Amino acid sequence: MSTSHSGWEAIIGLEVHVQLMTRSKLFSGAATTYGAAPNEQACPVDLALPGTLPVLNREAVRMALRFGLTIDAHINRHSTFERKNYFYPDLPKGYQISQFERPVVGAGVLRFIGGDGRPMSVRITRAHLEEDAGKSVHELLPGHSGVDLNRAGTPLLEVVSEPDLRNAADAAAYFRALWSLVRSIGICDGQLQEGSMRCDANVSVRPRGETELGVRTEIKNINSFRFVEKAINHEIERQIDVLESGGSIRRETRLYDAEKNETRTMRVKESSEDYRYFPDPDLLPLVLDDALIEDVRAAMPELPAARAERFTTTLSLSSTAATSIADDADLSRYFENALKTGAEPRTLANWLINDVSARLNGNELAITQCPVPADSLGKLVSRIGDGTLSSKTAKTVFERLWSDGGDVDAIIDAAGLRQMDDTGALQKLIDELIAANPDQVTQYRAGKTKVLGFFVGQIMQKTKGTANPQSVNELLLKSLLP
Ligand code: ADP
Ligand code: MG
Repeated sequence: MSTSHSGWEAIIGLEVHVQLMTRSKLFSGAATTYGAAPNEQACPVDLALPGTLPVLNREAVRMALRFGLTIDAHINRHSTFERKNYFYPDLPKGYQISQFERPVVGAGVLRFIGGDGRPMSVRITRAHLEEDAGKSVHELLPGHSGVDLNRAGTPLLEVVSEPDLRNAADAAAYFRALWSLVRSIGICDGQLQEGSMRCDANVSVRPRGETELGVRTEIKNINSFRFVEKAINHEIERQIDVLESGGSIRRETRLYDAEKNETRTMRVKESSEDYRYFPDPDLLPLVLDDALIEDVRAAMPELPAARAERFTTTLSLSSTAATSIADDADLSRYFENALKTGAEPRTLANWLINDVSARLNGNELAITQCPVPADSLGKLVSRIGDGTLSSKTAKTVFERLWSDGGDVDAIIDAAGLRQMDDTGALQKLIDELIAANPDQVTQYRAGKTKVLGFFVGQIMQKTKGTANPQSVNELLLKSLLP
């Protein structure tokens, strides 16, 4: 159900956990590589052995700053680390080190393209550094549960939005924009299926026109763009149903079950008092000076919006094409490498957005795994530009490149695909065709101009699609004159 037609308005705020791409953990020197055997990457600090002390990872701080600067956030020159106390088997310290009172990144704003294609902005409340917990493992040892602490201490940046979102499609677009941003500034690998970005969606509804916020629920740990949208839509409907049948919404944490497309109660929400936050006495306050902030600013990579702007102004791409390439740092890199061959930018962009992307999606490959190297695609597009290939024969060459690799020119020659633009040879074929089909010629001359298509088709067939369509058309029109 869509709330836009009902008397209800949905309010959504997202908390997104972004796993930072540091080599070591937030407070220890243990590695953060994904996929190691259980507990291979848990050092004494992560195991919470007595006498160990946390040491803050400088790179994680720089990454948090990089994020803060890109969303024009207020940077807190003085921030603190607090202990968030709770008991769970995957948390051997009995507390998680997080930032509560003063996060390193304060209020900012994320601008992006909303679900309906219009630009929008969402206020960011804060982004704070915290450590991840380990995880309980239930499927490894029959009848037993294990604890894997490899993930314990992995640095996270929790990005909290204001409750500015009004529908699930915009929430998904926000999550996607954040994903694209953190990848492009190189602070997160964006591997959703590995849990590198996890989203908690806070959802409430209120009667349209009401200014007070309704009671919210929080859907935990959603890790796909599609599920964000589905889970929120489902939760909005559920809340409206409850309220319309006279019930009330409980402040609680819910779990989204993608298979059943439903949310279920997980636990009734703790309030922040339950966590008994207090400053971690093992860690000094984090004090940032101007020199560090300026250093991070100077090292900032080009952002998607600036890149899109550059693609439209210097390469004359349409803004849609520019944005769809610029939003993805890897795709942009591929595009710019392919451009070095001298390929025409707009044709190249079209190939990337259509043919290449479709093939990649069909095979569930990322652009970094594309079997056709950037310079090969560039050369292919150049051969369209210089008239060697038609857009049709280019597709044949692309298929060969995709499945067998090889050199573009060698493929063109081996397959006899070089575009035929030899007017003499084409004229000869046309003369033969006209002589062999007197009926069609009469029809054409009697005004049935559609017959032209028959002649074009025949020439294309005879030349295996290599004839230059424009030359064929021009020569035919002349030859068919009475
Ligand atoms: P907590 O401390 O419980 O995590 P916060 O006040 O920090 O709660 O808010 C967490 C998230 O919930 C934020 O993203 C915020 O925008 C969102 N939020 C707060 N109130 C509402 C509401 N009534 N409806 C929807 N989202 C809300
Ligand atoms: Mg929270």
